Amino acid sequence: MHEMALTESIVDILSEEARRQGFGRVRVVRLEIGALAHVEPAALSFCFDAVARGTVAEGAALDIIRAPGEGWCLDCGKTVPLTERFGACPDCGGRRVQMTSGDELRIQELEVD
Ligand SMILES: [Zn+2]
Repeated sequence: MHEMALTESIVDILSEEARRQGFGRVRVVRLEIGALAHVEPAALSFCFDAVARGTVAEGAALDIIRAPGEGWCLDCGKTVPLTERFGACPDCGGRRVQMTSGDELRIQELEVD
């Protein structure tokens, strides 16, 4: 379950930010997860509660925002929605689609005390 490793790195970042910015507690973590990122939000939340225990992020709410997948179709020469990582172009059915967004996993915003 790679959500556990991801959660550990998120909590590491939060602890580091707390040291740097001098806050004592994280109340809300707004996390952007791309639709194509192969991350299960429910699993991530579950891991987060466990990993955050005893850290600045203990009891913090995880607010997950799903970013849609998008790709650039070389055949159409335009941006098209993607529902899977190596999916075909929904317009022309071509397979030469380069993913341009949808695999992000990043902390967008924090609410702290
Ligand atoms: Zn196309």
